[in-house]
Amino acid sequence: MPDLSPGSVRELLDLDRRHVWHPYGPMPGRQEPLVVESASGVRLRMADGSGELVDGMSSWWSAIHGYNHPVLNDAVRDQLERMSHVMFGGLTHEPAVRLAKRLVDISPEGLEHVFLADSGSVSVEVAVKMCLQHWRSLGRPAKQRLLTWRGGYHGDTWQPMSVCDPEGGMHELWQGVLPRQIFVDAPPDGYEESYADQLRSLIERHADELAAVIVEPVVQGAGGMRFHSPAYLRVLREACDAHDVLLVFDEIATGFGRTGTLFAAEHAGVTPDVMCVGKALTGGYMTMAATLCTSRVADGISRGEVPVLAHGPTFMGNPLAAAVACASIDLLLGQDWRTEVKRIEAGLREGLEPALELPGVRDVRVLGAIGVVQLDHEVDMRAATRAAVREGVWLRPFRDLVYTMPPYVTGDADLVRITRAVCAAAREG
Ligand SMILES: *Cc1c(COP(=O)(O)O)cnc(C)c1O
Repeated sequence: MPDLSPGSVRELLDLDRRHVWHPYGPMPGRQEPLVVESASGVRLRMADGSGELVDGMSSWWSAIHGYNHPVLNDAVRDQLERMSHVMFGGLTHEPAVRLAKRLVDISPEGLEHVFLADSGSVSVEVAVKMCLQHWRSLGRPAKQRLLTWRGGYHGDTWQPMSVCDPEGGMHELWQGVLPRQIFVDAPPDGYEESYADQLRSLIERHADELAAVIVEPVVQGAGGMRFHSPAYLRVLREACDAHDVLLVFDEIATGFGRTGTLFAAEHAGVTPDVMCVGKALTGGYMTMAATLCTSRVADGISRGEVPVLAHGPTFMGNPLAAAVACASIDLLLGQDWRTEVKRIEAGLREGLEPALELPGVRDVRVLGAIGVVQLDHEVDMRAATRAAVREGVWLRPFRDLVYTMPPYVTGDADLVRITRAVCAAAREG
C-alpha cells in the first residue's frame, strides 16, 4: 500500500485534533500524534513517508509476538470465516471454552473459573464484584473495602481508579466520589521485615471491613514501574488467610512471561483467590481480558440469596478475540520463551547500564523484558519522544520514567537500537 499523501496526513491530523480523544489527552488535542500506516514484526510504518520505527512499547505490553504475525493472522482469518461474534448469554462456542481451559491449565494451581471480560479495567471491576459478593453471600456485607499499596495502577473505571496510586492527581480530582480504600506505603524493592509487619497489622486491623487486598505482583506498571520482593506476596497470602480476606493479583501487565515467569505470582509460589489477565492475552490483536477465581470464591457467590454473578458485557467471550488469544498462548508456549525473555533481559541490562552515568538519571532497573530509566525530574515528553524517534524507535515516556518492554521477538540489533533510544530520550528528556 502506498504512503498517504502529505495532504491526507495533514487532514487526518486536523480531524484527529478536533474530534478524537487520546489517552489522558485534552480536547482539542495539543500534542500531534504520529500517524501509523501499518505494522509488521517489531516495526511501525509511518504514514508520512518518514519510514519505520522499532516498537519499544509492544503497544502497552500487549504485542509480545510483534505485529502482522502469520500464525495470529491465520487464527483471526479462520475464526472470521466461521463467525466474528455471537452473544454469550445462552450460547457458547469453542474459542471461548478452549481459551478458558488453557487459562485454567497455565495459571497458578487452584484458579478454576474464568470470566471473559472486554478490557483490563472491566476485569478488575469483575474481580472486585466477585470479592464483595462473596462476602455478602456469606452474610458479611460489611466486608466491602479494598486494601492496596501505593504506586499501583489497576485501570481507569471507578473501582480500579479507587485503588490506583492516590498521588497521581486523579484521587484529588475525584475526592468524595471514589470509594475510599485503604492504602499502605509502596513496597520497598528489597525485603524488609518492618514493611511486612505494616502489611500484616493493617490487614488485621481492618479485617472486619476488608473484602480483599488487591496488588500488582512483583512489578507495579503504569503507577511508577517499580519492582518489589516476591516475598511480600507470601506475607499478603498468609495475612489474608489468617484474617478472612481475599487476595487479588492484577497480572494484566505482568502475565504471559513479561517478568521471566509465565505469571509473576510464580516468583512467590502463591495462588491468589482472584487473578486478572489482559494486555498480552491476545498477543495485542484485540481487546480482551479475563478474571479467574478459585472454587472457594465461586462457591461463596453461589450460596448467596442472589446466587449469580450479575455481570455480562455485550461482547463477552468474543470469538475473534478468544481464537487469537488461544493462538497467542500456543505460540508462546510452543517456543522457548524463557530463553528469549532472558536474552532480552541481558540486552536491556547491557544497553541501559550506561544511562546511570547520565546527568539527571536517578535509577536504572531491569526485570525480564522490562527496562526502566528513572530520572530525577519530570520527563519532557516531547523532547524525549523526539530523541527516540531520531534513533528510529517508538517510546512513550511518562512522569519521571523512560522505559521499554519490547516484543519478545525483538532481535539483538533492534534491541541495541531500543536501548540507545532509551538513553537518548533520558539524556534529552
Ligand atoms: C493496563 C492495566 C489495566 C487496565 O487495563 P485496560 O485494558 O487498559 O482497561 C489494569 N491493571 C494493570 C496492572 C494494567 O497494566
